[in-house]
Amino acid sequence: MSESTESVSESVTESATPRESYAASPATQTAVRLREVLAQMPDYKPGKPAAAPAGVTAYKLSSNENPYGPLPSVLAAIDDAAATVNRYPDMAVTALTERLAKALDVPAECIATGTGSVAVLAQIVNAACDAGDEVVFAWRSFEAYPIVTQLAGAKPIMVGLDEQARHRLDAMFAAITDRTRVILVCTPNNPTGPCVHQSELEAFLDKVPSDVIVVVDEAYVEFVRDPEAVRGLDVWRHRPNVVVLRTFSKAYGLAGLRVGYAVAHPPVAAALRKTATPFGVNSVAQVAAVASLDAFDELNERVESLVAERDRVVQALNDQGWKLPQSDANFVWFPLGADSTAFSQACSDAGLTVRQYGDDGVRATIGEVEANSRLIEVAAAFGAR
Ligand SMILES: *Cc1c(COP(=O)(O)O)cnc(C)c1O
Repeated sequence: MSESTESVSESVTESATPRESYAASPATQTAVRLREVLAQMPDYKPGKPAAAPAGVTAYKLSSNENPYGPLPSVLAAIDDAAATVNRYPDMAVTALTERLAKALDVPAECIATGTGSVAVLAQIVNAACDAGDEVVFAWRSFEAYPIVTQLAGAKPIMVGLDEQARHRLDAMFAAITDRTRVILVCTPNNPTGPCVHQSELEAFLDKVPSDVIVVVDEAYVEFVRDPEAVRGLDVWRHRPNVVVLRTFSKAYGLAGLRVGYAVAHPPVAAALRKTATPFGVNSVAQVAAVASLDAFDELNERVESLVAERDRVVQALNDQGWKLPQSDANFVWFPLGADSTAFSQACSDAGLTVRQYGDDGVRATIGEVEANSRLIEVAAAFGAR
């Protein structure tokens, strides 16, 4: 096994000996009581580090990360902030909140930050759900949704996607009960790619009870080019029960620093501050996010080139005869059913780490140009489905 990521192989070697002796020790025969829900919960499966056959550059296309490293201006801000890490971060996240308010043209009191938008999502569910309350979302969708829901003691209500791997908002509406507290709309949908349309969402929201929070998860909004796509902030402005979720992890390339935010009306935003981990968003992340907003034009050039790469990959796959769902994000979805394992293996043999979702399909992130070209080659050799 050649792990190409040094830190991973290092930590494996270091821990091998102590872990063996620990496994046999009486300390592992614990009687402590843990919540039963943990045993039922799926483990979050992190994207595997890239690994490649000898002589081939490995690429990690499994976590929808931005392939570009931080901009020099962002790196300089990170460098400066590193010198102050003996101090707690600004708990109110003042500078970033104000900078976001300006960038989005929303009041600062409507912004709530967290350690990635996954954490902000957990804050939303914790703020809205008591035990047994229900959270409705499409499936497949983001793997964190059932985890966050069950950890809060709430019940996930999963509504299947349609044949084009799009949300069925009518079926999601039909799934609402008097226990429904939150509905999650993932647009574009991770892992399948299509966005929800603005007119569909407005019609849905006209019917949803006004005491149910509707989260519009726009983690990939910067990559959207469909003119009919949801514009979350426009919807949010005239709907008190809507919350927009955004992140610095994807287009902004700060996945490793963990910072995301919600745009919510003041009572909800205040509740999200109450359910946040105190001092969660660290000082380096706060500064890097501000510097990234300041460098938006430069970052946006990278987003444009990733979109161009996505379009190149999609075009090539279409030309090969693949029938894939529309992607408005930085990934493509291969709905391969029982062939998913074989395709995932073919990618892996070519040095591409992609994300397989059981027997549903395989998601490949748009990464470096060479990685994308190799994905096109693997797909051609595998044969279009
Ligand atoms: C990646 C992603 C997020 C963001 O995760 P962070 O915690 O901000 O890194 C949120 N929602 C979806 C659908 C995602 O794919």
